[in-house]
Amino acid sequence: MGPKTLIPKDHPRYCSLMIREKLVYGFENGLVAREGLIAHGRGESFDYLLGEQTTEYALNSINAASALLLLAEYAVLSVNGNTAALCGKGICDLNRSLERSSIEVNLFYRTDKREKLIANELKKHGAKKILGVGQTTIKEIPELKSNRRIVDPDGIFIADVVFVPLEDGDRTIALKKMNKKVITVDLNPLSRTSTTSDISIVDNVVRSIPHLIKCVENHKKNSKKKELEEIVQSYNNEQCLKESINAIRSSKGLAKTLVL
Ligand code: ATP
Repeated sequence: MGPKTLIPKDHPRYCSLMIREKLVYGFENGLVAREGLIAHGRGESFDYLLGEQTTEYALNSINAASALLLLAEYAVLSVNGNTAALCGKGICDLNRSLERSSIEVNLFYRTDKREKLIANELKKHGAKKILGVGQTTIKEIPELKSNRRIVDPDGIFIADVVFVPLEDGDRTIALKKMNKKVITVDLNPLSRTSTTSDISIVDNVVRSIPHLIKCVENHKKNSKKKELEEIVQSYNNEQCLKESINAIRSSKGLAKTLVL
């Protein structure tokens, strides 16, 4: 079940408006926090400037992310309300594609109810075990004051690679201090999350997850461990962020939408 919509498919902003509707639906059903709607607005404005398309630099980051996820001894896919509402199925499909990974719910605006609702949403898409929910034992990320300091001892706490779409800067910095390799999806190439992560995918999470799954599947079939290692070693996150900023500065998105 998704949102019922009156938006016609030929509306020029159909995809963007559908994403909004999914979030509002997620909010009405208790998955998304009010603040999550506002955070989406920040992302949406960057998406507009990027032309609402996946750039070749984002594809480069996605390729490196897929290699790192496959090389991980144990990867954790961290899910918040917005991610669950927008691409819960995609996260579950990605988890199934990886051989050594788990899904963990991790919320900034945490309540037991929202945690359980998100876990139930993910289970609808076939996830069997969801970490970070109703924990009896918890671990805390040092130096972090928000609710996101709480992590699952069988999840993020022991993972070597953590996938954290739509994350906030404090937590990303804290994860780096714990020596985790961090992969993020963030439309804002200037955010602290983007500039701190090892691999920052500057793209809408809705578009990037299907690309990421395809890349993982492709590497599983065709790439040797050594090739994956080379992809990760040769990846330059700073360069990808610079290229994303250049794409915004050249306003490709605006040029496409303005008919002059
Ligand atoms: P930071 O603390 O990292 O400097 P921030 O304060 O902007 O960044 P938040 O508000 O916690 O961080 O997180 C929202 C981030 O998620 C924003 O940077 C926004 O660009 C990004 N974002 C929102 N929606 C999406 C989306 N659908 N796809 C990708 N990124 C998104």
